[in-house]
Amino acid sequence: MASNVKEEKSDEAGRNILISHDRLYKIDQLRERNIGKYLPLPQLVAVGDQSSGKSSLLETVTGIPFPRGQELCTRYATQITHRRDNDSFISISIISGPQALAEHKVHVETYYRQVNDTAQLQAEFADILDEVNTRMGIRTPNSPEGQHTFSEDVLKIEKCGPNEDYLTVIDVPGIFRTTTEGITTEKDKSMVLDMVIKYIKDPRTIILAVLPCNVDVATQEILALAEKYDKKGERTLGVLTKPDLVKERSAKASVCALVRGKRKPLNLGYYIVRNRGGDDDEDDSELFKREDMFRQEPWRDLPDGQVGVGALRERLQDLLGEITDQAFPIIRTEIRDMLAETQSALDTLGASRKTDREQRQYLATVAGKFQGLMRAAVDADYSCNKAFDDGELRLITTIVNHTEWFDRTFRRSSQTYQFLKQTELTDDDEVFEEPSALEKIDTAAFPELIRLVVDDWSTEPPMHGIMAWIETIHHDFRGITLGTVSPAMLSSAFRGQSVKWGAITKQYVSLAILAVHRFIIKALQKVCHCQVVLQRLFAALVAQLLASYESALEQAMLLVEVETQRKPYTLNHYFNSNMQKVRGLRMRDQMGSGVPGSPSLGLVIPVKDIAGKIKNKSNAEYMREEIHDTLRAYYKVAGKRFVDYIYYLAVDHCLLSGPDSPLLLFSEKWVLELDDKRLASIAGENQQITNRRAKLEKKVQDLKEAIDIL
Ligand code: GDP
Ligand code: MG
Repeated sequence: MASNVKEEKSDEAGRNILISHDRLYKIDQLRERNIGKYLPLPQLVAVGDQSSGKSSLLETVTGIPFPRGQELCTRYATQITHRRDNDSFISISIISGPQALAEHKVHVETYYRQVNDTAQLQAEFADILDEVNTRMGIRTPNSPEGQHTFSEDVLKIEKCGPNEDYLTVIDVPGIFRTTTEGITTEKDKSMVLDMVIKYIKDPRTIILAVLPCNVDVATQEILALAEKYDKKGERTLGVLTKPDLVKERSAKASVCALVRGKRKPLNLGYYIVRNRGGDDDEDDSELFKREDMFRQEPWRDLPDGQVGVGALRERLQDLLGEITDQAFPIIRTEIRDMLAETQSALDTLGASRKTDREQRQYLATVAGKFQGLMRAAVDADYSCNKAFDDGELRLITTIVNHTEWFDRTFRRSSQTYQFLKQTELTDDDEVFEEPSALEKIDTAAFPELIRLVVDDWSTEPPMHGIMAWIETIHHDFRGITLGTVSPAMLSSAFRGQSVKWGAITKQYVSLAILAVHRFIIKALQKVCHCQVVLQRLFAALVAQLLASYESALEQAMLLVEVETQRKPYTLNHYFNSNMQKVRGLRMRDQMGSGVPGSPSLGLVIPVKDIAGKIKNKSNAEYMREEIHDTLRAYYKVAGKRFVDYIYYLAVDHCLLSGPDSPLLLFSEKWVLELDDKRLASIAGENQQITNRRAKLEKKVQDLKEAIDIL
């Protein structure tokens, strides 16, 4: 019964701080929706030296007992918040510090206690703090195995109830100047200072700079610190505690001068409060008795508005209203940013995938996006999607580059023997050059392709000595023919000259396969944000992908076979015109230098000399030249035809746009044809994801409501 009375009184004390302003009401609503869980809302923090009376002050202001006193000197920040809830209770939990390791985080965050009211809290506080200290790893007489003197973890005490009003106060460890051997270290010192700074630099924090009256204010660093982070002094209040401990008249006068703003003035002024002393009764009704002292000299001459906890509370109400006003835009932006972030995290998870229907829908959407990306990539329509900022997704451009490489390499080095140079027939590109260095292809990144694509990207240059080689062919195939090159001879020569076609073609098709494969993987990553689904999806597709790559290679190799092993043949008139051109040039070469003719003709050869010059050749020599020239003309025509067809058939048809293209595999149709079991094995989701989605959805909803409130 007695405890109930006490409970009501503490509630009364807490409610006194109620501010009726509209904006505070809004903050109140945010807190009700638990937005305080996501970002700091306006709050009070008491800062000052150790034992200056911070914890006692907060207790006086809120009516909630704070751990106080010398031996319990605050070792971590304590946050006391109020939240409106249908049920009345007080929950105690720990928020892990910013540097906490995962293990410690779990260890402290699994701590939870709940008590019914402040009386119960008070009764059990010692036990609760023991447990909290142990969890945080703080060394105390009761838990000597603790490793730390201070902790960055935060003890959170949340008071819930139907009548709770907005107020968050934070009690931080007192800053200290000298370290104590065996207890506090330099590291502790800076850790505590950092902790204090973290709170006071937030523009949403009202700084209660706590200064005991019985210590000279000149020795208190806290005012300088507060001024550093609250330059205009808009949110720093000086609070003078322990006035009852000042005995000397001169010391009292000095305190009064402070309150009157005669010494070290503060923008928001000083307030003087008498807290419960170490020996005072625990009962709150004592408060009024305690404050009786202010009716005496010299305190009673001080302005009423600056004396006693009532005056302080009133001032804090106004100030909270102002701070909230200023914090509003910041809170609004922060909530917006957080909403965007949360929404994108939620998008990453994708839609819920519990039922068959949801799973199919989800996967079909992913497939639709994939097909869209793929079409744009094949049409080089890169402006439509930001995804193409990633160069590896620009598929058709990569394919064109590889195709140019193939064409160049083919012209320069596909022939076994270098054809003879005949000035006017020799294009530059028929001279061998190292093929342009292929971009370093990391086949190891795609282990599934290792057995399929080539791993040797080098090409040998054509050899010299073509005429000697033709001589042997001529020798082996000589029959009883007069003049023309026999088909068998040409076949054999062509086969010999084209032995490298297969290797170069395989390199090219391998390049194209790698480009397509890499595209598919990258594009899947862009459209499917769930890693688990991505992996399963890829596993489900890979066998069919490999089969289509293999078929592209087979088609290419079939073309190689047809081109190089069948009887040379072409209807292309280019062959004949080439032949004639070669003959003409050869004749000119045989003519040697002429004799000077008329100025308009330059060098001339008398007609009577022509027969003699040609007659000079042996039959064999003539035949070798014929073979060489025919081979060369045919090689050129066949090579061009071949390069074109490899692109059309093996790359364009098999890999890009034909009906069996690997790019078309992962489609909505594919998804629709999956049976339920297979579908679930790809798109089903585990409990962890379901939970995470629920959490994010709740957060999005909370934040959206918060935006509506604001
Ligand atoms: P903190 O370290 O700043 O949190 O200081 P505490 O609130 O723990 O107070 C230190 C000691 O000073 C405790 O024993 C308090 O009871 C005592 N104390 C605090 N304020 C007053 C006050 O106004 N008058 C008296 N007599 N003692 C006080
Ligand atoms: Mg304290």
